[in-house]
Amino acid sequence: MSLFDRIVVASIPLIPRGVVHRVARRYVAGETLEDAIAAARSLAAEGAMATLDVLGESVTRPEQTEAARDEYLRVLDAIAASSLPANTSVKPTAVGLSIDPDLARRNLAAICRKAAGHGIFVRLDMEDTPYTEKTIRLALDLKAEFGNVGTVLQSCLRRSLADLDRLGEAKMNVRICKGIYNEPREVAYKGYDVIVRNYAAMVEKHLGAGGYTAIATHDEACVQAALETVDRLKLPADAYEFQMLLGVDPLLRRVLISSGHRLRVYVPFGRDWYAYSTRRLKENPSIARHIVNATLGLGPSGN
Ligand SMILES: Cc1cc2nc3c(=O)[nH]c(=O)nc-3n(C[C@H](O)[C@H](O)[C@H](O)COP(=O)(O)OP(=O)(O)OC[C@H]3O[C@@H](n4cnc5c(N)ncnc54)[C@H](O)[C@@H]3O)c2cc1C
Repeated sequence: MSLFDRIVVASIPLIPRGVVHRVARRYVAGETLEDAIAAARSLAAEGAMATLDVLGESVTRPEQTEAARDEYLRVLDAIAASSLPANTSVKPTAVGLSIDPDLARRNLAAICRKAAGHGIFVRLDMEDTPYTEKTIRLALDLKAEFGNVGTVLQSCLRRSLADLDRLGEAKMNVRICKGIYNEPREVAYKGYDVIVRNYAAMVEKHLGAGGYTAIATHDEACVQAALETVDRLKLPADAYEFQMLLGVDPLLRRVLISSGHRLRVYVPFGRDWYAYSTRRLKENPSIARHIVNATLGLGPSGN
């Protein structure tokens, strides 16, 4: 990241909330479940599937985890009632993993039970490394009990290629992403090339083992590497899916759909939009730069 981008990122907390809200509309479906269902409906009209995420993570009180669990139960009923091609993604800390793993397991079991009743898949998102092993164990355990459960591995982590052995053996549906958290070098690869190489190796390993793979990326190099593997293994279109974030690179989304690939969009919604949106801005300072310019009256945004 350039010095200018670092300065822009550091100024994000100074951007007026109303301005962030305008930008958030691109990344967040809205505050309510109805907003999320409306977003899933318009994605379905484009030929895309959705995964719904209730915004909020790292809660500190058990009541907060129960509120998150109940919101997911409502999400599952709404997906079932709508018949839309949608499933759910849950952050384990939002349902209690940072408080007590048993509490998280109880909340997730309630979510997976209801989802199984509706025939809907549940994915445990992957958070930072204090939760990696706990999340993998929870996912394996819940999959053994309910069947409809998968998780995520991050190609920036040194351990991930080996973690795929356990998930592959359990025939788990695995989302592979680069990883959003800034982890220390002891546990994480640093540098674009090595993370992309590991990404390609992980996709190849899981697809090669017959595991359903969710290829979550907007990086053309990762997309190309995955397509090369799909082509070499002569896989049918229902052996994998691409995944992208709401509001990021809709052109690539359309290209993949029109080439016949399954594609799912991550649709976050909820009142916690501010933290999520500022994180998106920190990841992509070029967007933040346009906002800072617009806020300071330095010219229109070209993004
Ligand atoms: C569906 C989905 C689910 C995910 N789940 C997890 C998870 O459970 N755990 C986890 O750690 N990470 C998760 N991530 C985030 C992921 O790890 C990366 O941080 C993120 O996707 C950026 O990596 P990239 O592969 O798109 O490559 P990059 O090289 O970072 O991005 C490629 C291009 O895409 C654009 N872009 C990428 N991300 C953004 C953004 N946020 N805002 C604006 N533009 C952007 C930029 O223009 C960039 O040039 C998920 C990502 C997706 C798409």
